[in-house]
Amino acid sequence: MLLSGKKIIVTGGSRGIGASIVQVLADSGAQVAFTYSSNEDSAKKVLSGLRGEGHFTVQMDISNENSINKGLELIFSKWPEIDGLVNNAGITKDGLLLRMKSEDFENVINTNLKGAFLLTKALSKVMMKSRKGSIVNITSVIGQTGNAGQSNYAASKAGLIGFSKSVAQELAARNIRVNCVAPGFIATEMTHVLNDEVKAKIMDKIPLQRMGDAKDVANAVKFLLSDESSYITGHTLSINGGMFME
Ligand code: NDP
Repeated sequence: MLLSGKKIIVTGGSRGIGASIVQVLADSGAQVAFTYSSNEDSAKKVLSGLRGEGHFTVQMDISNENSINKGLELIFSKWPEIDGLVNNAGITKDGLLLRMKSEDFENVINTNLKGAFLLTKALSKVMMKSRKGSIVNITSVIGQTGNAGQSNYAASKAGLIGFSKSVAQELAARNIRVNCVAPGFIATEMTHVLNDEVKAKIMDKIPLQRMGDAKDVANAVKFLLSDESSYITGHTLSINGGMFME
């Protein structure tokens, strides 16, 4: 199997895209440790449905450094070596610039960008020792195009792309690859809350004429974690039905 024997951490695996990533990785032979912030029941449900053995869940608030360190302590006590990290957990706090509160800007940056920075820093130390690893950061089409009402989210996701390219250059000599996956409009709780008019407007911009499935994103993540992508680093792979073409 593509990921046989690999030990991989996924943040935000309790639902949505993260849950699908966890499932696809387990189906491909990986052992997965995945985090949730508050939905323990949902995380347990995902865990109980996984194929294979050695998977576990970890409570972690990625906007809080102490919480990250505590969660990592548990993971490192079980796994001395780690092959992959998927920084998937993310939030939105939308609003037009003039009405956006500082705390909404900070929350989104702290969760989506600083959380990925802290986890990447901690895990790259472990990966450097074994001179191998693959890190995948889940950004967004919004980080590539911008979007009115999402300046905080767009800044966090565009930041993640620049961050990944920089770290990819720093870690390449140690055989650690860092890439991004940029989903477009994917059917999850995050997009479920949009009203029909907004959804119809977005659909008009998608050449493949459908919303993406979480599995479309998960398959791209699986590829970037596998040795089949061993010559790819610093790349952003768009999974958007043609909504934005670079
Ligand atoms: P969901 O809102 O469905 O799930 C978010 C996940 O992140 C949950 O597992 C949640 O845990 C976790 N999470 C949220 N806040 C924190 C935190 N502070 N600390 C730790 N974990 C946290 O999101 P999606 O599945 O839709 O999105 C996943 C990623 O994909 C995000 O980075 C998002 O920006 C990105 N994306 C999504 C798109 C879409 O169309 N859905 C499009 C483009 C990008 P819990 O369940 O415990 O709350």
